[in-house]
Amino acid sequence: MGKCMIIGCGGVASVAIHKCCQNSEVFEGIMIASRTKSKCDALKEKLQPTTKTVIETAQVNADNVDELVALINSYKPDVVLNLALPYQDLTIMDACLATKTNYVDTANYEPLDTAKFEYKWQWAYRERFEKAGITALLGSGFDPGVTGVFSAYAMKHEFDEINYIDILDCNGGDHGYPFATNFNPEINIREVSAKGSYIEDGKWVETEPMEIKRVYNFKGVGEKDMYLLHHEELESLALNIKGIKRIRFFMTFGQSYLTHLKCLENVGMTSIEPIMYEGKEIVPLQFLKAVLPDPASLGPRTVGKTNIGCIFRGKKDGKDKNYYLYNICDHQECYREVGSQAISYTTGVPAMIGAMMIMTGTWKKAGVYNIEEFDPDPFMEALNKWGLPWEEDFDPVLVD
Ligand code: NDP
Repeated sequence: MGKCMIIGCGGVASVAIHKCCQNSEVFEGIMIASRTKSKCDALKEKLQPTTKTVIETAQVNADNVDELVALINSYKPDVVLNLALPYQDLTIMDACLATKTNYVDTANYEPLDTAKFEYKWQWAYRERFEKAGITALLGSGFDPGVTGVFSAYAMKHEFDEINYIDILDCNGGDHGYPFATNFNPEINIREVSAKGSYIEDGKWVETEPMEIKRVYNFKGVGEKDMYLLHHEELESLALNIKGIKRIRFFMTFGQSYLTHLKCLENVGMTSIEPIMYEGKEIVPLQFLKAVLPDPASLGPRTVGKTNIGCIFRGKKDGKDKNYYLYNICDHQECYREVGSQAISYTTGVPAMIGAMMIMTGTWKKAGVYNIEEFDPDPFMEALNKWGLPWEEDFDPVLVD
């Protein structure tokens, strides 16, 4: 069917690449292009004997538009799947514009010096993508990603209007370390140490970090503490889903994780302000990343399950209705299949599916779109087929 260039070769990319290789009919060729080429080569060596997908590799600095343009022109992919870091979103979008190539990512742009997740920088590309006749699909991971597809599906099939959405992200996994992050520590810690916020009546309501706590009993996992966080899909879902009065995002954290994080914060280790150390400028959070366990090393040690989904409350045929859509994913099963734990798996699978939707022309409209702006049905089918089956509950326990 076509060729896909995958930028980045970390935890999420590794899963997406395994999944592309399982799906050779669509992904006839992939190019893995990242900062450290040896990681791309190692993955190629492992996977090429197992797949018909022709794998190529390249070194690229995704902060450099000219380098990206040259690489895209030499490979001519149908789509570029950006699985580097959010800081590279705009340079990769610029390169896609210059080469008229479709674009998919899993996280919205964030400038290096302000931990602020907003779509405004990427939405500013709408007109240019439309004029170039290419698609940018934003946020094709799990959250954002599947949570948007779930919302579009609920809107299409279950509701006339959705008034309340609670997105619940539960990781019941245990890696046995006192403190480690399940994905890129810098991104993860920036996310959880930021102020919380949610949208009510069209306005953002801000909370202190971890101020709002609830306890929820998750199917497949059990009872967990969860905390309200700011999360990027709130911004787009509040605009794209009809009738929204309030939308919130909760993530589970264990007490040990929070105590460690508080301590690291109190001593200044989570700061993104550069400091001078022995004559060299360093960013404390980046230094912390260097001493923490590599998320990729957690795979073999992590046991337990994740449960991520959305509880919807709204109206159907004039009556109140509640509906919960979620996926349960087992860390060890993911590890056996693709050598990664469930956090990377639940992001990498939808990333592959998003690229597939564009490559097959199933999703086709020029411009910049969030995932809930497309027909959810083919994506929902693909989730069941490619390892993230979903479950529904028509009488869920609600979050107060
Ligand atoms: P990793 O840190 O494991 O991987 C990032 C990769 O990008 C690394 O291979 C890194 O190279 C490469 N990279 C970084 N900077 C550059 C650059 N300038 N040029 C080329 N390559 C570069 O991160 P994850 O795999 O955990 O996360 C990947 C993305 O997925 C992030 O944007 C993250 O926010 C997003 N994500 C989204 C989720 C969702 O549900 N929507 C959930 C989890 C993550 P090197 O190997 O040299 O370090």
